[in-house]
Amino acid sequence: MKKIWCRLLIVICCIMGFIGLGSVPAQAAVNHTLNYFHYNTFKDDDGRNWVRIEMGMNKGELEYEVSENPDRPYHLILTLKNTNRGDVKKNIGLDRKIARYMTLKNDHRDMVVTLAVTDSLSDHEYKVYTAEADRKAKKPYRLVIEVAADKGAQHKALGDESLEGVEGFTVVVDAGHGGSDTGAIGPSYVREKDVTLNIALDVARILEANGVNVVMTRTTDVDVYGPNATDKQELQARVNVSRRHPEADIFVSIHCNAFTNSSARGTGTYYYAHGYRDSLLAQQIQDEMVAATGLRDRGINQARFYVLRNSWIPATLVETAFISNPYEENMLASAEMQHTMALAICKGISNYFQSIGR
Ligand SMILES: [Zn+2]
Repeated sequence: MKKIWCRLLIVICCIMGFIGLGSVPAQAAVNHTLNYFHYNTFKDDDGRNWVRIEMGMNKGELEYEVSENPDRPYHLILTLKNTNRGDVKKNIGLDRKIARYMTLKNDHRDMVVTLAVTDSLSDHEYKVYTAEADRKAKKPYRLVIEVAADKGAQHKALGDESLEGVEGFTVVVDAGHGGSDTGAIGPSYVREKDVTLNIALDVARILEANGVNVVMTRTTDVDVYGPNATDKQELQARVNVSRRHPEADIFVSIHCNAFTNSSARGTGTYYYAHGYRDSLLAQQIQDEMVAATGLRDRGINQARFYVLRNSWIPATLVETAFISNPYEENMLASAEMQHTMALAICKGISNYFQSIGR
């Protein structure tokens, strides 16, 4: 018996050794896992503003590709070979002045990073390089992206982001959920709170660029009232942001819809009829959303949502699409669709202000 065991052990050791040896070349190629994310803005010697994005990972010698797609001039695409997103978020809002936001998507063994910039890439200078770990600064090995502000940004026409008749108005933009409240979570784990924040930040950026005074209920991933508040406290906190600004003209809340049946789909906008302006605002946004996204038109509906019912100013709540529907979840996660929706909401707001006049 003993002899057999010994032989068996030897055989097992041989097999293990063989497997171990065999996997060496494969190991060398795989498994960069992100474990660090940081961004900041800085000025170069010429006084030009830059944004620097650092994605840290567990080990060095990363292979990556940088590409531009002529059909998507606002997006810089990086493919990180054999890399996994780790704990780093899928959707990350950035400074909004140079870079809007980025999305990280696992694609088989690689990870695809899409960085959405504010102007066409041809107007931005950018650099992509790797940096060794910096123990003093507590930074691991990183892939670094630096993007400069467009030199002529201030003097350039706003292009397709220009809005009529909005200058001087005040808009409260409410990114649904946040912090301890993720909102609905899609089948691929896209979180409503991330999508709503990205869209809301982009709405704010576009409105501000057109001379609108924007008030946001949140600009980062936080609870507005505080962690673990009751629903009512949290929603009242959002209403209060609006009430603290008596000059505010309208309140726009951004959400994603969800339903137990994953085939439910489309875009819908809600209002509580304090007056005709609520439904007018809802309809204008709904029309632009449907035109821009091509999603099923669920129309506008009255609803007793807390933030709408308790608003002192015309208010609407946009259910952009169904995060519980795998197809629409995918759309909601894409930087391009988030921008399309943000622009549609802004156009709806512009149409509303034009129809009510000053
Ligand atoms: Zn929601």
